[in-house]
Amino acid sequence: MRITGVKAELVAVSLAKPFVISLGVIDSADIVFVKIETDEGLTGYGEGSAPAFVSGETSESILAAVELAKPILLGASPFAIAEIHRALDAVMVRNGSAKCAIDLALYDLMAKSADLPLYAYLGGTVNRVETDMTIGIGEPAAMAATAAELTAAGYRELKIKAGSDEEQDREAIRLIRAAAPSAHLKVDANQGWTVASALRMLAYYAQFSVGALEQPLPYWDIDGMAEVRARSTIPIMADESCFTPQDASRIVRARAADTINIKLMKCGGIFRALEINAIAEAANVTTMLGCMLESRLAIAAGAHLVAARRNFVFADLDSFRDFDDSAQIKSAFDFELPDIVLSQTPGIGVELAF
Ligand code: MG
Repeated sequence: MRITGVKAELVAVSLAKPFVISLGVIDSADIVFVKIETDEGLTGYGEGSAPAFVSGETSESILAAVELAKPILLGASPFAIAEIHRALDAVMVRNGSAKCAIDLALYDLMAKSADLPLYAYLGGTVNRVETDMTIGIGEPAAMAATAAELTAAGYRELKIKAGSDEEQDREAIRLIRAAAPSAHLKVDANQGWTVASALRMLAYYAQFSVGALEQPLPYWDIDGMAEVRARSTIPIMADESCFTPQDASRIVRARAADTINIKLMKCGGIFRALEINAIAEAANVTTMLGCMLESRLAIAAGAHLVAARRNFVFADLDSFRDFDDSAQIKSAFDFELPDIVLSQTPGIGVELAF
C-alpha cells in the first residue's frame, strides 16, 4: 500500500462556553483535519489541534508543516511509521500537533488495512474507556455547582483547574469537595505556582482527598517538580513538562512525577505516545491520556490508545463535550457517560465529511 494523496483542511469550531485555565481563556478551537489516500482505496484521517500558548503551534503552522511533510509521505507505505517519524523529525523539530495529524491518519490506515479497530491493532482487547470531566476556573460556587451536576450525571472523576489565585483555588476545592463528596478529584495548576506556593497548596489540598496535582510549576522546572514531589503526599503529574520521549526520560530520571499526562498533540501522535508510555511504565510511573481542544476524531484515537495499554490509569478525554463537531464528523464512538465506547469498525472508527 502506497500513499497517493495528502489533504489538509482547517475548521473553526466554537465552544459552547469559554474555557478558563491559568494560562488563558479559550473560546474557539481551530482544528486541522488531514486525509491520507492510498493506492488501495483506503483513506486515513488525522487531526491536529493545539493552543499556541501550550505548544507554540497554530492552525497555520500545522497546515504549513503538513505541506513540508508531503514529499516524505507521498509514495511511502503507511506501515513505515518509524521511518516516517524519523524523516519528519529530520525536517522539523517539535510541531507535535502537525505530526500527530499525520500519525493518526497513518494508524487509521494501518488498522483499516489489518481490518481491526485501532485498539485491537495496538494489542488491546477492550473498547470501553472512562473519561473524567474538567471544570475550568470560575467563581468557586459556580465550579461547585458544576461538580454537583457532573457527578449527578454520572462522572466519577473530575479535574479541577487552578493556579490563578490561591484564595479562590482554596475556596473552590472546599466547595467542590462538599458538592461532590465521592468524586475522585485531580487538580491542574497549569504551571501557575512556585515550589513554595505549590507546597502551601498541597498541604491544603491534602485534607480534601485530592488524588493528583498536575503541572504545579513552569514547564521547564523539572528540579522544582522533583522537590515538590519529594515533599508531597499527593501524587504529582507532569503535563506541559513532557512533550517528547526525551522529556519523559528526563522526568523519570529526576523522579519528578508519579504520572505523566501524555497528549497526542504534544508528542506527535500514537507512535511517540507509545514510546513515552513505555519509558514511564519501565520507571514505575503511570500515565494519563489527556487532550487539547480536540474533536471526536483525536479523542477516539486517544481512547484507542488507552484501551490498549494498562499503564494509562486515567483518561482526560473530555474536550468533545464542549463543542459541536457534528458538521465535520459523520460518525464516531458512542458515549455512555462516563465511558467512551469505541466503534468496532476498522481503524479509528470516525468518519469525516471531507
Ligand atoms: Mg494539564
